[in-house]
Amino acid sequence: MELLNLKKYGIDIKEQVPLSKYTFTKTGGPAQYLAFPKNETELTQLVTAAQQTKLPLTVIGNASNLIIRDGGIAGLVLILTQMKQITVTAEQVTAQAGARIVDTAFTAANAGLSGLEFAAGIPGSVGGAAFMNAGAYGGETCEAVKSVRVLTRAGELRTYNKDEMQFSYRHSLIQETGDIVIAATFELTPAPKAPILANMHYLNALRRYKQPLEYPSCGSVFKRPEGHYVGPMIIQAGLQGRQIGGAQDSTKHAGFIVNKGGATATDYLDLIHLIQKVIKEKFAIDLQTEVRIIGQKAD
Ligand code: FAD
Repeated sequence: MELLNLKKYGIDIKEQVPLSKYTFTKTGGPAQYLAFPKNETELTQLVTAAQQTKLPLTVIGNASNLIIRDGGIAGLVLILTQMKQITVTAEQVTAQAGARIVDTAFTAANAGLSGLEFAAGIPGSVGGAAFMNAGAYGGETCEAVKSVRVLTRAGELRTYNKDEMQFSYRHSLIQETGDIVIAATFELTPAPKAPILANMHYLNALRRYKQPLEYPSCGSVFKRPEGHYVGPMIIQAGLQGRQIGGAQDSTKHAGFIVNKGGATATDYLDLIHLIQKVIKEKFAIDLQTEVRIIGQKAD
């Protein structure tokens, strides 16, 4: 099946679309082809078509943990944000991969289910949260997940249980397999709704106080090295506030890099490399990026 033939099934595929429109950093080059599947059938058709036409395939959720290089992404890019159904059954909530984890957490809270409060302010999708094992304020996605439904790169549907997902700090099995998360089911605990919601509003207020949410960013750029905190190391190294092009190490939260206006992905990456180099020299620590870096360099 030719990729562009899918248009006749009503699947809209756009060409050469700047991805900076979608990324939280507001940077990144174009997608060669871009589609927003609306359901599992469209997703499967698009994945199959990409395989048959030998086009590389990239799956994106809410693009809140991504730096896409300025040369963009060759092949087909799928953004799953149209697959956003959330259903509650007894003590479980099942959300499609493109549903926002925030909306999933508030749906659970309003149904009197506790366990996703930590996610109240994480701006990613359910697929991205499962892929990253996103976490905050002492909670992690893996603690609430019961199972994750995926489409493998070979086109098979599979359901992984929590153990099979091999979750660890900002890691899951999906990072190795390249499977596409279609949906996740969370197993939660019944509890009074008001305190759950109060806790979520409190965590969001903390976030607004500590994080530079007034600027585009990708959240914490680096993973926390064992036994250390990234922000204080950056401050001690004299790098807080350092700016390259439009990318600045945040003066409010040194672990964030904000787009002060007109930043490119190259600005972000140059600043990341500078921070990694200086931290290595000063503390002998290799900072690993939490943010995922994909795509090609600009010519
Ligand atoms: P994307 O950025 O779209 O993608 C990230 C990776 O996941 C990519 O490699 C992509 O290929 C893969 N992926 C996405 N969806 C799928 C899918 N359906 N199937 C297979 N692979 C997929 N993170 C935290 O953990 N805790 C925080 O407190 C936190 N705070 C943040 C605050 C701000 C202001 C910002 C901007 C980001 C923050 N993040 C935080 C980072 C981010 O929100 C999380 O990592 C989130 O889980 C990423 O989800 P996403 O849908 O945006 O993923």
